[in-house]
Amino acid sequence: MSKKKKYCTNCSNEISEDAVVCPSCGVKVGAPVYNVKVVKGTSNDLAIVGFVLALVGIFMCFFSLAGLIVSIIAYKNCNDYVNPNKGFAIAGIVISAIVLVLGVISALAGIILPIIVAIIATIFGLAM
Ligand SMILES: [Zn+2]
Repeated sequence: MSKKKKYCTNCSNEISEDAVVCPSCGVKVGAPVYNVKVVKGTSNDLAIVGFVLALVGIFMCFFSLAGLIVSIIAYKNCNDYVNPNKGFAIAGIVISAIVLVLGVISALAGIILPIIVAIIATIFGLAM
């Protein structure tokens, strides 16, 4: 079994391939190659934050927008976590979206209904 030669990255001395430490300068040569993949976070807490914001948004509509944004970000980051909390992220998006849609509808109704009432009142007023 022939041993290939390699060179120390520190002092450039020739060393055997299976050498762990350079015999000349003592620098570790067989440094383990770490996985380049980014270390995953344990829990995607942002998903829970988004979910809570979505729930708060049911009572205070403006939280829904924050809930929606946070939940979408959390959903996109899901793959970076061991515990992605994907269900919370999806629930946060769905709840926020529903509340926002209902909020927009009720806001529009709040603008349109008085106008309709005013028109009807005007018509009846003119009729009398
Ligand atoms: Zn060396």
